[in-house]
Amino acid sequence: MSMKTGHISVETENIFPIIKKFLYSDHEIFLRELVSNAVDASQKLKVLAKKGEYSGELGDLKVEVILNKDEKTLTVRDYGIGMNAEEIDKYINQIAFSGAEEFVKQYEGKDGAEQIIGHFGLGFYSAFMVARKVQIQSLARHENAQAVEWESNGTTEYSIKDIEKADRGTDIILHIAEDSEEFLEESRIRGILDKYCKFLPVPVIFGTKTEYKDDPSGEKDENDKVKQISYEVPNQVNNTEPTWTKKPVDLKDEDYSSFYRELYPMTFDEPLFHIHLNVDYPFNLTGILYFPKIKENVEVQRNKINLYSNQVFITDNVEEIVPEFLTLLHGVIDSPDIPLNVSRSYLQADGNVKKISTHITKKVADKLKEMFTKDREDFEKKYDDLRIFIEYGMLSDEKFAEKAKSFALVKTTDGKYFTLEEYKEHISAIQTDKDGKTIFLYTHDKEAQFSFVKAAKDRGYSVLELSGPLASHWIQKIEMTLENVSFARVDADTLDKLIKKDEEIPSKLTKEEEEKLKPVFEEVVDKEKFKIEFDSMSETEAPIVLTQPEFIRRMMEQQKLGGAGFYGAFPETYNMVVNSNHPKISDVLNEKEKELQTKKAKQLADLALLSQGMLKGESLTEFVNRSIELI
Ligand code: ADP
Repeated sequence: MSMKTGHISVETENIFPIIKKFLYSDHEIFLRELVSNAVDASQKLKVLAKKGEYSGELGDLKVEVILNKDEKTLTVRDYGIGMNAEEIDKYINQIAFSGAEEFVKQYEGKDGAEQIIGHFGLGFYSAFMVARKVQIQSLARHENAQAVEWESNGTTEYSIKDIEKADRGTDIILHIAEDSEEFLEESRIRGILDKYCKFLPVPVIFGTKTEYKDDPSGEKDENDKVKQISYEVPNQVNNTEPTWTKKPVDLKDEDYSSFYRELYPMTFDEPLFHIHLNVDYPFNLTGILYFPKIKENVEVQRNKINLYSNQVFITDNVEEIVPEFLTLLHGVIDSPDIPLNVSRSYLQADGNVKKISTHITKKVADKLKEMFTKDREDFEKKYDDLRIFIEYGMLSDEKFAEKAKSFALVKTTDGKYFTLEEYKEHISAIQTDKDGKTIFLYTHDKEAQFSFVKAAKDRGYSVLELSGPLASHWIQKIEMTLENVSFARVDADTLDKLIKKDEEIPSKLTKEEEEKLKPVFEEVVDKEKFKIEFDSMSETEAPIVLTQPEFIRRMMEQQKLGGAGFYGAFPETYNMVVNSNHPKISDVLNEKEKELQTKKAKQLADLALLSQGMLKGESLTEFVNRSIELI
C-alpha cells in the first residue's frame, strides 16, 4: 500500500480560515456543492457510456447522503465516474483548490449587500466550512483501477494512499467539526436536502442508520475505515423529473397545479394560471411561472420564485433577475446561463440577465394577451385578481405598458368590463365635454359615494370602479397614454362641472339673491374648510353637494404617501355647492324668521355632510335633535 503526503501550493495564505469564518452565514451550502458534484459524477458516467467510452455496467446511479452520529461523520456517496490518484491530484489538489482560492479572493472584503449570488463556485472545498477533516475514497471507472483515499484536515497538507473499495464511485466523508454539530442533526440535513436538492436529476437518498458491512477486501483490520456503512429506511428526497423539465404538450392543467403544491406545500390557494417558459436561444431558460391570487398585502407574497441552475436550487431572491413587478409571481426559473458566483449588483449589468428579464416580461404580456383573446369571459372573471399586477406592471415597465394597453380592463359600477379604447368609444357620445375631452368618471368606493354614483347614473353617465393602492398613479399613466381622456372622481365637482357641456341650465336665483344667501350658509359651517358656491343644477339633484376638486384630492393623496412634509401646511378643503334651482334653497331664501332660516340652512348643510359620512360626534347629535324639533 503506497502512502504519500503533499502540499497544496497556495498564493493566498490561509484560505481555510477564510472559508470557515468568512462565509459563515451560508455554511449549509456545502451539502449542495457536494451533492451537485456527486450528481455530476453520475451524469458524466452516463455520457461516457453513451459515447462508448465506458463499457462497464452503469448500475443504479444514485447519490446517498449518510449521517453517522456515532462517528460524527456525514458521507456523500456516488456511483459515478470516480477518481484515481492522478485525477484527485489534478482535480482536487490543483483545479478545485485554485477555484476555491479564486472564489475566496472575490469574496474577501465584500459585505452582505455585495452578496455573491448562490455562492456557487466554492465547490468541494466548502466542505471545510463544517468539517475538521475530509476524506475522499474513490474507485475510478477505469478497468483495474486502484481505489485511493485522500485526506486533509483543513490545512494545505494532504495525504493520499491506496485502499480497497468495492463499488465504483466516490465517498466524500466529512468529519464534522465541533462548532458545526448542527449538521449531525437528521432534521437539519433533511431540511437542507429539501431546500437545495429537491429536484436534482439523479435520485438522492438520505439514510441515517449506522451499521457496518464487512470490509469488501476481507481483511479484518480494526482501524480500517474502508468498511462500508449501510443504512435502513432509505428515503429519496428528490423528484428527478420536475414538471418544468417536461414538454408542455405532455402536461395537463392538473400536472401544473400539483407541481404548484409540490413547490409550496403550505399554500392552499390555487394559482390563477401558469406560463411554461422554454427558451434555448440565445440563452438557456426553462421554468414555470404561476400567477397567484394577489392579496392586499403584496409584500408577503414577494420572492416566491425559485432560481435553479440545472435543477440545483440557488436562491429565492430573484430581484435582479426579473423585473420588480414580476417578483409577485411564483414558480421556478432554471437557467445555467445566469452567473451565480458574482455579486448581486454585478448581476444587474449582465447581458444575459437583462435578456432573460426582457424575455420573461414579454412572455407574461403575451400570455395575458392570449388569455384575453381566447376566452375573454374567463379573463374578465380573473381580472379583479390580476388588476393590481397589470397596473403595477404598466407603471413600472414601459414595454409591458405598451403591450398591456390592449388587455388592461376597466370595470364599471355595473360590473361590466371594457378595454380602455372600448370604454372611450362606449362613453364618448355622452361623456365628452365641450372641449372634446372624454371624461372617465370613477369612484374609489361605490358604497361611500353612493349618492354621487347614483346622480351620475341618473344623468345617463357611466362610472368606473377604481380602487387600490396604485389607482391614482395608474390614472395619471392612462391620462398620459390615451389621447383626450381625463379621469374625474364623482365627488370632485358637480356633474355639470365634471363634464362641462355647452347648454347651461338657467339659475332660478339672481346674483343678488345668491349674495344674500351666501352668508346664511357661511354662518352654519366652518368657513375655512367649506367654500360656499352656487350652481344651477337640475331641480332633482340634491340641494347641497359637497365636492373636493380632483387636483386637491390628488395632492392630498400624494402628501399622505410622501409623509408629513407640507401635509400640515395644506389644509383639507371642500366645495359646498348650493343648488340654486332646488325648491328647498328658495325656501331658505324666503324664510323671514331669522332663527328658523339659520336652522333650515344648517339642516341642509348637515344633510350634505351626512350623505358623505362626514357628520360626526356632537354635530351628529345636534342634527338628530334639530331634526326631531323640526318635525
Ligand atoms: P466544480 O464542481 O465547480 O468543478 P469542485 O471544487 O466542486 O468544482 O470540484 C472540482 C473537480 O473535482 C470537479 O470538476 C470534478 O472533476 C472533481 N470532483 C469533485 N467531486 C467529485 C465526485 N464526487 N466524483 C468525481 N469527481 C469529482
